[in-house]
Amino acid sequence: MSDQGFSDLQKRYLEGFTSGLQIAQRMRGLPAPAVSAQPLSTGPSGETAPAGPEAIHFEAQNRFTSEGKKLVAEEKAKRERHPLDRWDELLKRAEAGEFPKGTDIFCTKFFGLFYVAPAQDSYMCRLRLPNGILSSFQFRGIADLAERYAGGYSHVTTRANLQIREIKAQDGPKVLMGLYELGIINRGAGADNIRNITGSPTAGIDPQELIDTRPLARELHYYILNHREFYGLPRKFNIAFDGGGMIGVLEDTNDIGFAAVRVPDGKAVEPGVYFHLQLGGITGHSDFGRDTGVLLKPEQCIPVAAAVVRVFIEQGDRTDRTKARLKYVLDRWGLERYLQEAEKHLPFRLIRFPIEDCEPRQPVNKHAHIGFHPQKPVGLYYVGVALPVGKLTVAQMRGIAAIAERYGSGTLRLTVWQNLLISDIREQDIAAVKGAIQDLDLAWRANSIRAGLIACTGNTGCKFSAANTKYHAERIAEYLEQRIELDQPINIHLTGCHHSCAQHYIGDIGLLACKIAKGDDQEVEGYHIFVGGGYGSEQRLAHEIRRNVPADEAPAYLKTLLECYLKHRLGPQEGFAVFSQRYPGEQFKHLLEHYSAEAA
Ligand code: SF4
Repeated sequence: MSDQGFSDLQKRYLEGFTSGLQIAQRMRGLPAPAVSAQPLSTGPSGETAPAGPEAIHFEAQNRFTSEGKKLVAEEKAKRERHPLDRWDELLKRAEAGEFPKGTDIFCTKFFGLFYVAPAQDSYMCRLRLPNGILSSFQFRGIADLAERYAGGYSHVTTRANLQIREIKAQDGPKVLMGLYELGIINRGAGADNIRNITGSPTAGIDPQELIDTRPLARELHYYILNHREFYGLPRKFNIAFDGGGMIGVLEDTNDIGFAAVRVPDGKAVEPGVYFHLQLGGITGHSDFGRDTGVLLKPEQCIPVAAAVVRVFIEQGDRTDRTKARLKYVLDRWGLERYLQEAEKHLPFRLIRFPIEDCEPRQPVNKHAHIGFHPQKPVGLYYVGVALPVGKLTVAQMRGIAAIAERYGSGTLRLTVWQNLLISDIREQDIAAVKGAIQDLDLAWRANSIRAGLIACTGNTGCKFSAANTKYHAERIAEYLEQRIELDQPINIHLTGCHHSCAQHYIGDIGLLACKIAKGDDQEVEGYHIFVGGGYGSEQRLAHEIRRNVPADEAPAYLKTLLECYLKHRLGPQEGFAVFSQRYPGEQFKHLLEHYSAEAA
């Protein structure tokens, strides 16, 4: 197909379209859905398993009930009627102006609608944006929906996704239909499903990348949307593709992480770019992805993801939600047995190749998600725009879309650091883009504090949160910005509960919200403080150094902590992660106590 005569925007659209056409070609190697060839099994009450692709779920549940175990309420609800078959119920409730109750709240999340009471008496809608990439026209459309049916703002999430909030009961289906018309199909954005597929945010434009992750993220996205058995897993499931570029995607915190590697000449396999498979990452449960030693050709990634998920469907716990993640099957079975089971679902054997025999990954640049950076092709730039803890008003969304259309290619890229990139800007337009971003009251040159500041939804929108994380994150940034100057990027992650949506275990500094008793029958919001977390080459789980710091004392506490770092690091080149990892266990605490006593 010739692209002569098309505008840049149209070319980008066609690029996405042709990448979509590749899906069909790549899918030819995929195994057929694993519908059981056995006679259909029956449940404890004698009901017959459905004949469709979801039969494998029914059979997995039966294994537990036949052992006398009790399915959790969510499993019973999925079994009673597939949540994706509940569209009519959704419409009926919307007509009556009612929100769901009981397990219907859970089932409605299959449509990406979360009833978030008591935090807010409204729906939150979560989208699905493969690789975190969307077009300016989609961004405008989301802004229109957020203005018309929601609170007039959106949040960028830590899965490079968007959420809009404060949606009335009667407007839930209208938001969904609006998204579908924009080409955003968000089925499975919540509940027991495979969440937004993340990929390197600079995919396709990154001078350092080994491979463009966009086609893989898209293929997997559409594979999931078109395979009903991939809905209603034992619990949620995360998958990420890292292309080896400048900005990390935290693939080692996902249930499945595909990490691009280059195999040099002279090894047992052909030299070239492959993916190394990691399994079982879940930092909220103190685990990074385990390196399986499996090397995959890019075209093998989707079948392998499908096979790994199918084994999880068969083996994941259906009786205890706290143990229903992939990690626990791996703990029970070990990697080798899991891989052998996955292989039964594949038309090819898995190749083992040690990660040590691959070229080391180029380091990520912790500054690269903010500010202007050269991209491919030479002469063009992308800019990372800092968003205050991921929040954007609809006016800012429209402004960003306009900048992307006027000076870029109309492409927007969200990152897991809760900010966004505008790509394909010509050098001569950089000054104009800087001004346009500032006119929107947004920053392209975040100082080191704000650039790495991440906060989960917090108690204004999530019932699990013990504190107003986004508000406190802003206060911390304001306080520190005026009092401390950093020459190294710092990641500060605030998370509202042990679910750890903001991944406090991998931040340089992590804050986990808590309630602190104060006087009789009174409590204040506060945080437990962690240090020493890292990802990628600095992979490490943070350790706790202080409990119960009241929220209004947290900014000053962090200031002392950062001053201590500046004084005791080995030089300006030593980042906070490396510094703090030199003081494991209690040692960091003692260093800080010593520094505080000296400074007093
Ligand atoms: Fe809610 Fe907890 Fe996730 Fe924060 S970490 S958004 S409080 S579930």
